[in-house]
Amino acid sequence: MTANIVKCLFCNKEFLLPEFKGSFIVHCPYCEFSHVYLPEDNTLSVPTQIEEDTLTSLDGIPLQNENDEFDLDNDQTISQTSFNLQSIPAPASVTLILEVIKGRDRGKVFNIKKSLTTIGRKDCDIVLDDSLVSRKHTSIEMISKDNIFIRDLASRNGIYINGKQVTMKKLYGDEIIKIGNTEIKVIIEK
Ligand SMILES: [Zn+2]
Repeated sequence: MTANIVKCLFCNKEFLLPEFKGSFIVHCPYCEFSHVYLPEDNTLSVPTQIEEDTLTSLDGIPLQNENDEFDLDNDQTISQTSFNLQSIPAPASVTLILEVIKGRDRGKVFNIKKSLTTIGRKDCDIVLDDSLVSRKHTSIEMISKDNIFIRDLASRNGIYINGKQVTMKKLYGDEIIKIGNTEIKVIIEK
């Protein structure tokens, strides 16, 4: 079997597939996006719920320096995401709740039902009353059950997950998102 190099559908970085017979879930070593590998077509696709629940999960092998952390280049923006998220329904089996625990909006609870949710000070799905929050500050992308991401939309003050600044991060639940003076708790129920 020759080395099979594939491209992540989310961050577009190339990585090596682990050797395994049949279909499996493979995580991008850079951004942790979960794909399903279909040997018949030799392609990666976004897993369905059934595939996520039944297939073996394997990690992709990085082609670049392992110390390279996933980082969104400056010229990459949300418009270059490989998916048209508006056309993907949010996975029905996942409940994503964002609870504002600090800031002027403290106490507000948002039940996310869309695959793409924007958060900011103006013209967003979730509008925060916080002058340190950019107009369009961050997006939450729910692509499949195991593919829930937060992305910085080139905001002025950045986003912090559990105290660490990130440009993009996979969400597993229980994280605290800090944007401006606002803190939001992530609750994911599967
Ligand atoms: Zn990736």
